[in-house]
Amino acid sequence: KLYNMVQDLKGNIRVYCRIRPLFRADTKNIIDFVGENGSLFILDPSKTLKDGKKHFNFNQVFGPTASQDEVFKDTQPLIRSVMDGYNVCIFAYGQTGSGKTHTMSGPSNGTSKDMGINYLSLNDLFQLSNQRKDIIKYDIYVQMVEIYNEQRTVEIRSCNDDGFSLPDATLRLVKSTTDVLSLMKLGEVNRAVSSTAMNNRSSRSHSVLTVHVHGKDTSGSTIRSCLHLVDLAGSERVDKSEVTGDRLKEAQFINKSLSCLGDVITALAQKNSHIPYRNSKLTLLLQDSLGGHAKTLMFAHVSPEADSYGETVSTLKFAQRVS
Ligand code: ADP
Ligand code: MG
Repeated sequence: KLYNMVQDLKGNIRVYCRIRPLFRADTKNIIDFVGENGSLFILDPSKTLKDGKKHFNFNQVFGPTASQDEVFKDTQPLIRSVMDGYNVCIFAYGQTGSGKTHTMSGPSNGTSKDMGINYLSLNDLFQLSNQRKDIIKYDIYVQMVEIYNEQRTVEIRSCNDDGFSLPDATLRLVKSTTDVLSLMKLGEVNRAVSSTAMNNRSSRSHSVLTVHVHGKDTSGSTIRSCLHLVDLAGSERVDKSEVTGDRLKEAQFINKSLSCLGDVITALAQKNSHIPYRNSKLTLLLQDSLGGHAKTLMFAHVSPEADSYGETVSTLKFAQRVS
């Protein structure tokens, strides 16, 4: 059978923490990072070392020098399980500037070096598909969806030979990483347009790259599964006295959808009978891939600067709650 129903001993929800490098010289590093056992200490910059130390524990902690390949290596088994019929969701959570897009897409300078999980995953899935081609024939499709203010917009659109976009053909069959790269570029173009129009909207929307895998083996039995790669909106709290109008509305939508996501993952981790999927667009979109036999990985991203202390603690608490 195509299904490998052996229950993963680690359980279906895991949380990794990633600390990005310190970029400024004028601030203290508040993270005392202990990587080996998934442990992490953070220091309250306004207190003494003895009083201001908080401890957190995750399945894995990646320090500021961890490479994209190291991060991918610990993600790869999860990604590969998609080819065996499991649905998988990977989330990047954290305040704006903490490294979410770096982990999922790669560096912001646009080089093809240090590609992130999105690219490395697809590359790996194509390799597996090729290795198994005599046993199973796989078709791989990608789709990119953006959720902004609880509204869903499709980013990657199918193009006909003349390059005109066909708005309702949202699923693209991809044969190679080259196909994927050109689609991602198209997604970036669409996003660049909206970000100038909406003042860097990308940090205030959730962006979901979904990989659909269809497999058929020699006996004719089929599998269908998907991998959702989610770069979440920035988790920072905005000061209600400082923002009004559209910006306040955006902040409230982000707040709501991230707390709904936290509620869903917590309910799953606690094996509750009621899972509140219907409370946000994001959890509704991902419903089939959260819970059941699906596997979930949350990357909690933190910035090490002293002035990020408040946000860093709240990110770590959120992540601790869902793990
Ligand atoms: P976010 O998506 O959470 O807003 P970004 O991924 O855009 O944050 O990261 C902010 C900046 O820090 C970018 O210039 C990015 O390239 C850089 N950066 C983030 N994480 C790392 C890392 N682990 N190593 C090197 N640079 C990083
Ligand atoms: Mg980003």
